[in-house]
Parts: sequence; C-alpha cells; structure tokens
Amino acid sequence: MAADDLMEKIVNLCKRRGIIFPSAEIYGGFRSTYDYGPLGVLMLRNVKNAWWRSMVQLRHDVVGLDASILSTPKIWEASGHIANFTDPLVDCRNCKERWRADHIDGICPKCGSADLTEARAFNMMFKTYAGPVEDDASVAYLRPETAQGMFINFKNILQTTRKKPPFGIAQVGKSFRNEITPGNFVFRTREFEQMEMEYFVPPAEAPTWFEYWYKERLQWYLDLGINRDLLRLRHHDKEELSHYSAGTVDIEFAFPWGWGELEGIANRTDFDLNAHSAHSGERLEYFDPTTNEPYIPYVIEPAAGATRTMMAFLVAAYGEDEINGDVRTLLRLDPRLAPYQVAILPLSKKEPLMRLADDIFASLSPIFSCDYDDTQSIGRRYRRQDEVGTPACVTIDFESLEDNAVTIRDRDTTNQVRVPIAGLRSHLAAILGWN
Ligand code: ATP
Repeated sequence: MAADDLMEKIVNLCKRRGIIFPSAEIYGGFRSTYDYGPLGVLMLRNVKNAWWRSMVQLRHDVVGLDASILSTPKIWEASGHIANFTDPLVDCRNCKERWRADHIDGICPKCGSADLTEARAFNMMFKTYAGPVEDDASVAYLRPETAQGMFINFKNILQTTRKKPPFGIAQVGKSFRNEITPGNFVFRTREFEQMEMEYFVPPAEAPTWFEYWYKERLQWYLDLGINRDLLRLRHHDKEELSHYSAGTVDIEFAFPWGWGELEGIANRTDFDLNAHSAHSGERLEYFDPTTNEPYIPYVIEPAAGATRTMMAFLVAAYGEDEINGDVRTLLRLDPRLAPYQVAILPLSKKEPLMRLADDIFASLSPIFSCDYDDTQSIGRRYRRQDEVGTPACVTIDFESLEDNAVTIRDRDTTNQVRVPIAGLRSHLAAILGWN
C-alpha cells in the first residue's frame, strides 16, 4: 500500500471510529492538537499501562512519580533547557513559511524557493505566568519533558523509599513543546504524552545498564506485537550526541513516510544530578555505606512517547484482507492494547435474550474491557469490531437460551467456537492471554 494511502486510511479510521479527532474541529481546528475519543482513550491508556506494568509493577527496583507540569524557570536553567532547548529556524522569504533548518535541504518544501533567512535559535518551551501578575517573577514553564521531575525529587525518593542504586524512577505524563513543524498526525504534536524512566546506577556500571535497557526496551515493542522488520536500533555517533550524553540509542519504527524515533535510550552520566546540585545547593548524591563515601550516580534514561507509540501500534496493526469476497479492514492489535478485548453481541433486542446478554456483560466487564453492540446485522457488527481490533466477539443467539452456550468469534481467523456460558470467563482469559 502506498505510504500516503496508508496514513490517510489510518487517520480516517481514527476519526470515523472515535479513536482520535482533530481538536476544536467545530472552530476550524487548532494547530496540530488532537482529542482522544472513546476508543482512543482506552487504547492510549492500554499503551501507558503496558509500559507501567513492565517498568514499575513487575520490578522491585523502579518506583513511580507524578510530578507537576507547571514548573519554575530555575529547573530549566539548571537542566540547560533555557539555554539549549532550541531548534534552528529559517523563514522562507518568498512564501513566509517557517521551517526547521535541519529538516529541509536549503529549499522551501512549500514553494520551492531557495531564498531562506539565516537560521535563528528558537526556544521550544511554552512560557506562561503563575498568579495574577504577568511579570518576570511569575514566569513559569510547561514542562517540555517529564525527566526533570525525577531529578528534582531524587532526594525525596531516596529518603522515602530507601532504594539504593541501581534503582529507577518512572513517570508517564504530558509534555509540551512549541514544535515549529508539527505533523504526520500525532507523530509530532505540541502537546503529547511521554513515558520516561531515570535509572540511577554506580558510574562504573553505566555502560552495562545502558546496554541492558536498550535491549529491554526493544523487547517491549516486540512483545506487544510489532514485527522486528519494522523496528531498528540506531546508535548516535559522537557528533550527534547531546551535550550530556555518553551514549544514545534510538529505537526507530518504519512509519509510512520513513524511519522515525519512538524512544531514545541515553547514558546521561551525572550531568543532571550535578547540575541540580550546583543550582539548588542541595547535594543530590547517594551515600554508599560500603565505602563510607558519597557519590553522584550516573543515569540511564529510556524516554518514550506514549502518543507517538500508540500511533506506531496502529500502523503496525493495520491490515486488510478478504473474507468471502468482501474486503475487510482489521487492526491486529495485541489484546492488551486493543480498546476492547471482548464485544458482546446479542443477535436480537428481544427479551429474554437481552437479559442474558446483560448478565454476560456484567460478568465479563470487571475483567475485560467490553463493548456491547445490539445494532445492525451480525456481519456488520463483526466488521466494526475487526476494524477497531477487538480480538473476541461473543455472540448470544436464541439457542443460547436452550443450551446455555455462546459463540466466540476470533478476529484474525474469523473462526467460531461454541462455549458454555459457565466457562466463558476462563475460556476468554485463556485465548486472550489474560492473567
Ligand atoms: P524528535 O527528534 O522526534 O524531536 P526528541 O529526540 O526530541 O524527538 P526526546 O526528547 O528524546 O525526543 O523525547 C522522548 C520521546 O518523546 C521521543 O522519542 C518521542 O517518542 C516523544 N516525543 C518527543 N517530542 C514529541 C512530539 N513533539 N510529539 C510527540 N511525541 C514526541
């Protein structure tokens, strides 16, 4: 499928089925902002939960945090964002469009003119005022990354959890960047969600943990069903490394328009804790009882985008096939990511079938995310579930009242099996891999 076609199909599907809507549409839209609809909010939450589960819940060396989005300029002075978080910007003198200099080859992609201004630095942080007075003393920033929350709480967390290196602090939340050229749907937006973890280690162990984490993170995407061919690791060479980094690997995904970063894993050395120690006057160090010496740990950071990653899962899952001569669209999503795991489909709206369907919904919905659909023909209902990736449909027919059994239909194969209602929960748990 041509790249443009695939993107158009995914964007249309997202709009048509309530996954992602362009924001403020009734007002003509608003600058690359998006709203996650009833199905999108379920899927995005699933992406974040899958990350949290593997990064926090299943580990005893990582704890969570939810730090504030509004932040003092002092944080961003220390982190280097006020001085360095800039993109080189050029204006096209012909059509007045503005571009990131490093995204274009000296020619305006809109009008083709080579008459561009010199590149200027443009700070990407959103600035606002906290309180009623708009003066220098009340300047605040919306965080452009979640990472700094972990560094400024390093001491709090050491004291309250009694963790010792190697240990990590993880956070999922919104970040804001005034991107000059947002685009490619939710790949690059000004408001987005990140999933970041700062893993604090003894300096000598940093190279080992760096390798451990980029392998671990690659495996996460593979476990959730992205094909290995659609992923690659890209090591930054010396010239590309950020000023704080002793090594960076990007995990990239083959988007329809080319490779794009899903996540960066960096060895940030002791840059951040050092910088905040120097600026705040608090010593952000770990006192090692085995040597009786304090030291500043190194940090390995896997930093991923939740919204961007959700889009990669959608692209990877999108498929079309033919069933009895009809083309159908389907999302081959892992059951853990699909907005609904189960759709409950009563064949008729008549009693007592409806009551039975309600009972089944009540029994399954505490365990699985369930849709309930009693509209249109059963064939149409299956198609609607296929295109939003629901792995299992449970059909309740008149025979169910006699044999106390229902039909489970599989999204990928369309195979159907008859299952006793009494064993439905455990049967679904088994086929969905739920535990
Ligand atoms: P890029 O080079 O694409 O601008 P970055 O290297 O600046 O990304 P990081 O600062 O490492 O990105 O942020 C970590 C992750 O956050 C990225 O890998 C990406 O998944 C996500 N991310 C960053 N900027 C955006 C954005 N504007 N919109 C959506 N996701 C983003």
